[in-house]
Amino acid sequence: MTCDFLSLAAPGVRTLQPYQPGKPESELRREYGLSDIVKLASNENPLGPSSRALTAIRDALSGLARYPDGNGFELKTALSAKLGVSMATLTLGNGSNDVLELAARAFLTPEHEAIFSEHAFAVYPIVTQAIGATARVAKANPPDHLMPYGHGLATMLALINDRTRLVFIANPNNPTGTWLNTVELEAFLSAVPETVIVVVDEAYGEYVEAEADCPDALRWLDRFPNLIVTRTFSKVYGLAGLRVGYAVSHPQVADLLNRVREPFNVNSLALVAAAAALDDAEHLERSRAVNRAGMRQLQDACRRLSLNWLPSVGNFLCVDVDRPGRGVFLELLKRGVIVRPVDNYGLPRFLRISIGTEAENARLIEALNDVLKG
Ligand SMILES: *Cc1c(COP(=O)(O)O)cnc(C)c1O
Repeated sequence: MTCDFLSLAAPGVRTLQPYQPGKPESELRREYGLSDIVKLASNENPLGPSSRALTAIRDALSGLARYPDGNGFELKTALSAKLGVSMATLTLGNGSNDVLELAARAFLTPEHEAIFSEHAFAVYPIVTQAIGATARVAKANPPDHLMPYGHGLATMLALINDRTRLVFIANPNNPTGTWLNTVELEAFLSAVPETVIVVVDEAYGEYVEAEADCPDALRWLDRFPNLIVTRTFSKVYGLAGLRVGYAVSHPQVADLLNRVREPFNVNSLALVAAAAALDDAEHLERSRAVNRAGMRQLQDACRRLSLNWLPSVGNFLCVDVDRPGRGVFLELLKRGVIVRPVDNYGLPRFLRISIGTEAENARLIEALNDVLKG
C-alpha cells in the first residue's frame, strides 16, 4: 500500500485547485486529429513576437552554456529608461506569475490574509494557498453594474483587517476584461493602510486605449509606497513561451521581493528578447491596431448572434453564450477552434475569447455561428 501523500501535504496545498491552462493546439491535434487549428484561448499576441526579439534570441544562442545575468542588468536598464523609474524599483520574474508568487512569499505567512475578487486571475488563490495563508474573496460587482462581475473595491476594502498583508487587483481584469477607473482606484489606494501591500496586475495595460480611463498605476508609486505594479512580456509583446515579467515598487519592497527570488529565475534568451521587444514601438502599435480591429469584428459578430459580452479593454472578450459555456467550448473544439470556458472562474455561461488576426476571428465567428444556430 502506498503512503497517503495527500495527508502529508501542507494544508494549503491539500485543498489547492491547480491552474487550468488554455488547451494547447498540439493536444487538440492529437485528440481530434485536426490540423487547421485556431487558438484563441490564452490571450496571446496573434502576430507573435517582434522580429527584433527573435534576432536577439538567435544572437544569444551561442551563450547558452553560461548562466544568465541574475540581476538582469540590461533588461532593467531598458525598463528603467522606458518607464522612467529607478533600477532599484524593479524585480524581474519568470513571467509576472513568478513576481506574484514572490509577493506572496515575501509578505504572507499562515497567520496572514490576502484579498482578491471573485472572477479574478486564478493565480492569486494559488500563490496565497501555497503559503498556507488565508484567501479572502471579495464579492464582485453584480451583473447589472456598469462593470459586471468586475472588482468591487468597497467590498475589498471592507475585508481588510489586522491580518491582511496583500491585496491583488488585476486592472484590467482577466477573465472579465472589466476595469477600474482612475478616480476609484486612486481612492482605494488612499484608503488602504500603508501596512497592506496592494498588487496592481497590469498584464493587459499596453492594450488599454486612452479614452477608457483605465489608469497606469505607475503614476502612484511615489505616493503609495505599499503599491506593487506588475507587467508582463507574455501578452502584447508576444513572448508568453519565454516567461518574463516584472514588478515596479518601492525600492525597499523590491529588495524584499528580490530576496526570495530564485537567483537565475529569468533565462538568458528571455532577458535579451524582452529588452529588444521594448525597443520595437512599431510592433507594439501594430499589435494594438490588430487588437482594436479584431475587437470590433468580434463585437459586431456577437451583435449579429444576439450575444451580450462584458466590457473589455484587454485583448479578449468575455461573451455570454446564454447556455453552459463548456458545451459550446466542446463544440468549437470539434471545429478546430480553441477558446476558454470560464466556469471555473464562476462564469458558467460565458466563454473568454482572445482576439486573433482577422482570419482567425473569422474562423471563430463561423464556428460559433454554426454551433449556436446550426
Ligand atoms: C496573462 C496574465 C498574467 C501574465 O502571466 P505571465 O506569467 O506573465 O505569463 C498576469 N496576470 C493576469 C491577470 C493575466 O491574465
